[in-house]
Amino acid sequence: MKTPLFDTSALQSRATSHQLPPFKVKQIFFELFKNQRIHREEMTTLSKDLKAELAQSFTPLSLSIIETVKSDTTTKFVFQTLDGYIVEAMLMLHRQDEKYAPYSATSPRKVAGRKLNRITLCISSQVGCPVNCLFCITGKLGFTRNLSWDEIISQILYANRRIQQQFGKKEDGSLRAVRNVVFMGMGEPLLNYDNVIQSIEIMLAQERLSLGRRHITISTAGIIPGIKRLIADKVQVKLALSLHAPHQVLREKLMPIAKAYPLPALMEVIDEYVAATDNRIFYEYIMIKGITDTPALAHELVSLLAGRLAHVNLIPYNPNPVLDFLESDVKNIQLFKQILEKGWLTVTVRESMGREAKGACGQLGWENVKKRVSE
Ligand code: SAH
Ligand code: SF4
Repeated sequence: MKTPLFDTSALQSRATSHQLPPFKVKQIFFELFKNQRIHREEMTTLSKDLKAELAQSFTPLSLSIIETVKSDTTTKFVFQTLDGYIVEAMLMLHRQDEKYAPYSATSPRKVAGRKLNRITLCISSQVGCPVNCLFCITGKLGFTRNLSWDEIISQILYANRRIQQQFGKKEDGSLRAVRNVVFMGMGEPLLNYDNVIQSIEIMLAQERLSLGRRHITISTAGIIPGIKRLIADKVQVKLALSLHAPHQVLREKLMPIAKAYPLPALMEVIDEYVAATDNRIFYEYIMIKGITDTPALAHELVSLLAGRLAHVNLIPYNPNPVLDFLESDVKNIQLFKQILEKGWLTVTVRESMGREAKGACGQLGWENVKKRVSE
């Protein structure tokens, strides 16, 4: 199998064996990461000979695109790995004044015509997922394999190229690019620790993607050993914990992984993480009608998070036809939010971007599951 063009060690060893001068290696990286060119033909700063030489053993990206599904605010990319598996990433376009738009589950906000001010890419870390949370469609796909670090980075390089094609340059002539990366696509990132961390190093590196630490979020279902490694390795990116229930009994029902990593032990390691990093934790809490959205549970959540450095993100459940749950009513979401706010928690309700494209949280992989169900 061909090596990705941005594999430093492969390029470096080629540099030694084929006298590839360091400036050419630099040129290659510049084309990929800074000029956002992902096709060999477009890399105009590389000589013909160099391109031909690279074509023999390198591939610019480790994934190919097979489908793009666009809506007003999102673009879903469906990729195929070189060995034929499907993974997805979701581009979310935030426009000016978005923060102030009221939450509404029924009327998606119209954003066309407003200035683009933030671009977030939700990326996948595994093909499928072994954790199998009851409400998640990716879980239903089962687990196939981890994505390699280069497959993770390829999702961003591909998205950057598409952003450039769609939106052109900024007013100051610089290129637009993904500014925020969230590991909230398919898979559990802390069960693919090494590849995720290696990809984060490339995201952070000045001469690569040059993203800010606070612009990268790892979302986890609560894999205790993974969180301990983040502490030990001093990985200073944002951490989101998929909590979804304020007590063990309900959590275990919704997320079987909670049996292996029970809530009290999980909160203990989260406290260690906060003490070590001083980072606020983003607690994700899914709003499923009649199951997670009662006022009593809101009060329990207040007690659980009292005194903790926390931000709660309420995620309206994204319905899909193969699962039985229903989305909470808007008024119940508002009531739940008010109870948390009275308990001095900061709360946001996540806009369910990407529903039209079947790429919202928990819906990635939807088409594949649909195919399986109808087979
Ligand atoms: N495996 C990681 C990251 C991917 S899931 C994790 O679980 O955190 C990203 C987020 O989407 C998680 O908070 C997850 O719980 C949530 N999610 C899964 N299915 C969902 C659904 N049907 N509706 C809304 N959110 C969902
Ligand atoms: Fe896996 Fe996250 Fe889905 Fe749970 S919610 S099955 S951990 S992707």
